[in-house]
Amino acid sequence: MKLIVTFSRKAGKKPIIASVVRDTGVLINVERAIIDSSEGEALIDIPDDQCRLVKEKLAEMGASVRILEDVITLDESECVDCGACISICPQEVFSFDENWKLTLDAGRCVLCGRCIDACPHQALSQKIDT
Ligand code: SF4
Ligand code: SF4
Repeated sequence: MKLIVTFSRKAGKKPIIASVVRDTGVLINVERAIIDSSEGEALIDIPDDQCRLVKEKLAEMGASVRILEDVITLDESECVDCGACISICPQEVFSFDENWKLTLDAGRCVLCGRCIDACPHQALSQKIDT
């Protein structure tokens, strides 16, 4: 399961994710991180059955956490199977099936947003749960 973790750095540079790994024993895969002097945001991937534990621990440490489910959503009624998203996605989320229809493996997505901007038919969107 993928989570977006947002945390403030104003109180210091605490290694939040490393601390959660240490305290919970859950191995966390950091897929993307943007950190500046005042705050940070990281996209992490964890086993589904550990989600609650990690989410609670992150919240305890002052981070806000959003769950990403079906990260990228395809509106099949808008898609014209042009393939623009296939060529721009760095994670190989998209491919054509044997009938040249677009298919996606949403679990590979790292939420970079490139495909949403590239789609000429606004067929792609992101869903974020809290
Ligand atoms: S870029 Fe948009 S219209 Fe083209 S294949 Fe991808 S989702 Fe479909
Ligand atoms: S958001 Fe980025 S990683 Fe996810 S499907 Fe689109 S291009 Fe690929």
